[in-house]
Amino acid sequence: PLPASAFAPLPFGARHSPFPAPPPPPGLRPPPCTFSSLLSSPSDASSPSDAAADGSSSSSAPPSAPPSSISVNPLVASVKMSKTVEVFGLVQSMKAAGERVTSLCVGEPDFPPPQAVLDAAVAAVRGGETRYTAVAGTSALRSAIAADLLERKGTRYDAASEVLVSSGAKQSVFQAVLALCGPGDEVLIPAPYWPSYPEMVRLAGATPVVVNTTLEKGFLLTPELLEPHLTERTKCLIFCNPSNPSGAVHPEPLMRRLAALLELHPRVAVVSDEIYERLNYNPANPHVSFAALPGMFDRTITVNGFSKAYAMTGMRLGYACGPARLIKPCATIQSQLTSCASAVSQAAGVAALEEVREQEMEANVEVMRGKRDYVCGRLAGIEGVRSYVPDGAFYVLPDVSAWFGGDDAGLCLELLRSKRLALVPGESFGAKGCVRISYATSMEELEEAMDKLEEFLEENRP
Ligand code: PMP
Repeated sequence: PLPASAFAPLPFGARHSPFPAPPPPPGLRPPPCTFSSLLSSPSDASSPSDAAADGSSSSSAPPSAPPSSISVNPLVASVKMSKTVEVFGLVQSMKAAGERVTSLCVGEPDFPPPQAVLDAAVAAVRGGETRYTAVAGTSALRSAIAADLLERKGTRYDAASEVLVSSGAKQSVFQAVLALCGPGDEVLIPAPYWPSYPEMVRLAGATPVVVNTTLEKGFLLTPELLEPHLTERTKCLIFCNPSNPSGAVHPEPLMRRLAALLELHPRVAVVSDEIYERLNYNPANPHVSFAALPGMFDRTITVNGFSKAYAMTGMRLGYACGPARLIKPCATIQSQLTSCASAVSQAAGVAALEEVREQEMEANVEVMRGKRDYVCGRLAGIEGVRSYVPDGAFYVLPDVSAWFGGDDAGLCLELLRSKRLALVPGESFGAKGCVRISYATSMEELEEAMDKLEEFLEENRP
């Protein structure tokens, strides 16, 4: 059965909130649990917009819809609702009540897309590029992606058969999981993980198997941690590098050791989510594509996109690359799901890859590095917080388990209530006792947030 929380009126968590959402207009019943509210992943702390979208869609429910006895797909019922929902519910209702909330929850860059990207999008609209494209994407974009990966990552993909453009990396990961996995299969997910992975695996009818990593070892996956979880049922490893939520970047020698282990298990595929690869702050630890490792090309579906590197989150553009044998079933799924990515966004994607100068990309990375250094410096100054300096993405996941008896969700709720500061509880990422801080925001907001966090932790010191 569905958890009772699945039927909570939206916005999520509002029922438990001391700042309740405004009452529905007269005549409107509380919105029912909608299909979209179940299917979206409000636990996906990177996409607070998901929760907001649910709230708005459900309020248009017909006023007199009869109570229904229709059961939902048990696969969907198995998808977890997270306590993070409560934090988002609170943020939404506080904002609705006119409160100012500092949020370090977002998973999108705070810089705008490059001008060349915006210009290309406008030109595409004006030039009538508003129709369906081929399912796999325009040949211009596929060729640009193949050329970019060959140049920067050393992986050679055939643009015609080995590149599949989608409406975002999220779709690409899900299609890869659906294409590879089904009932009876086990999927290895290193923790801390992006919350969508286990839920996608469950929706495919397969079983997520969590492989824990530790803060002491930089949240890195090692062959020693992975090996005990490899069984004859293991179908796939979902590898997120750089990692959301830890920001960890796996060094090449370690990745080579992981590849050597997987070579002993030829039936195990790898979905390598590399969406954060352009956000890397340590030149001594450059990002390496999993598919570029010896023997790994044939088993790897590489996922990437334009949301993080080019701040094109709302343009919904991503892609998967891999051997044609693995990409083809992904394309089949996509052909029945979304057909193709937005033609306008695809034109913008070509401009991103072909016109944006390296210097512009590096300038953004430089700014982000400054923010990482600031946040990590502040965390290091708070006694009792266990932290580290991540090499990539724009997140850090400090361990604050000394507070609130390790109840990170409770800590986040109290932090939000008392300081109006929103962080995401580590438990959403399989990292109990931690909190995730996204530093992709203005320096001004970061300073304010870190002041609030420090104050809060001092006031609540156990
Ligand atoms: N993978 C990871 C690890 C992410 O953090 C995100 C975005 N939060 C995505 C995939 C999805 O990106 P997109 O916007 O391209 O769907």
